[in-house]
Amino acid sequence: MEAHLTYRLLIDGKLVDGASTMDVINPASGTVFATCARADPGQLEQAVQAAKRAFPSWSSLPYAERGAVLARAADAIEARAGELATLLVKEQGKPLPHARGEVAGAVGALRWFANQKLDIETLRETEQDRIVEQRTPLGVVATITPWNFPLALLAMKVAPALITGNTVVAKPAPSTPLTSALLGEIVADILPPGVLNIIIDANDLGGLLTGHCDVAMVSFTGSTATGRRVMESAASNLKRLLLELGGNDAAIILDDADVSEVAQRVFNGAMANAGQVCLAVKRVYAPRGMYDALCDELTRLGSALVVDDGLNQGAQMGPVQNRQQYEKVLQIIEDARARGNILVGGTAIERDGYFIAPTVVRDLPDDARLVREEQFGPVLPVLAYDSIDEVVSRVNDSEYGLSSTIWTKDVDRGMALALRIEAGTVWVNKHLDGPMDIPFGGAKQSGIGRAKGVEGLKAFTQAKVINISKG
Ligand code: ADP
Repeated sequence: MEAHLTYRLLIDGKLVDGASTMDVINPASGTVFATCARADPGQLEQAVQAAKRAFPSWSSLPYAERGAVLARAADAIEARAGELATLLVKEQGKPLPHARGEVAGAVGALRWFANQKLDIETLRETEQDRIVEQRTPLGVVATITPWNFPLALLAMKVAPALITGNTVVAKPAPSTPLTSALLGEIVADILPPGVLNIIIDANDLGGLLTGHCDVAMVSFTGSTATGRRVMESAASNLKRLLLELGGNDAAIILDDADVSEVAQRVFNGAMANAGQVCLAVKRVYAPRGMYDALCDELTRLGSALVVDDGLNQGAQMGPVQNRQQYEKVLQIIEDARARGNILVGGTAIERDGYFIAPTVVRDLPDDARLVREEQFGPVLPVLAYDSIDEVVSRVNDSEYGLSSTIWTKDVDRGMALALRIEAGTVWVNKHLDGPMDIPFGGAKQSGIGRAKGVEGLKAFTQAKVINISKG
């Protein structure tokens, strides 16, 4: 068990024990390695009320003062980066260098937002009129995060919420609560009481939080199914919503691409974080003439990938994060085995923990589960196409529309194709490039609203128009 036994809640500036405790499993062993506080509905209520009380004074601070507080929080988190990264590997499973990258990403997000500001904008200035728009904060924001990037996504939500003047009740996923709890401990003395509250549940408080009439906005990242429930429970008081949901992102390879170079990049994009990335490549479309060569390359890459406990040196991919997801991915693989040809992997790895071998599957029909559903695991279907019109319609035939990648030597061809893809982001000859100043979000059922960039800041505010007659 962990030496650090007191992963607590953060309510009204105080670190407090939960009404009960709960166990946290290391996915690399499948066994309990820590316990943490678990809140009950009464503690959730205390957190919401603390955030509500903190709102008037926090929201009336100038941006620069809120920014200075966020910058101090970023420094304090950076000073404990090593500890956070190790804990992240233990609760989430990813290899240590990737965990370090995630901690750095969280610090970077806090710093970037600490320097942002939404100024009053002049909409019209004439001899008669002055019309301006002020962006005002909403109030208490609930942030709900999933288990794939628990720390980076927490920072990506909390930072824009706080810089724009809102206060926050944050709820991590029950299987990865520890890095959020440790972050709470680190910033407890830096943020004024109630400005950030962290509640940990066992998947039982999300509905209460998103339905709460004192919560003005929900920023949620998770599955489309749960996103729908969040939307329903937000109806009571017309909460503002930022929903980052599932994806079934296609990589489209054009016939002029270099097979081995593209294979490596598509493979990396599919297996990153053991495939548990909303933006991971989840299906690959190759021209029929390139199909066999691409399958061969992907097979070679799949057999070479080092899968291990993320704390072990040399691990390139860790386990799937939790047992439920592990079983779901194995079921999708069984369906794929019955309907296509598994080229590499196709099984759990025989060891403790939730390890699945990197899997590549070919010859699947378009209605196979692995092609239609979001697998969220290290399993990649490779599909052949004969014409551009055909591949466009097959790629767009999905309820999802998060992102897509196009691989070609001809940037103009890439651009022309990108214009036809239904997605929030289309990358051409790159992947997973998400600068902080560029809006990010989903089309169709992959989400509502945009995070990052000016749009991502505005999402945490509402427009107030001030319309003045000078006459
Ligand atoms: P998974 O299905 O893999 O558990 P989810 O999308 O359900 O992923 O979970 C993402 C986050 O949403 C987690 O923090 C989870 O606790 C939370 N959650 C689950 N159910 C609800 C709900 N009804 N309302 C709000 N949040 C919820």
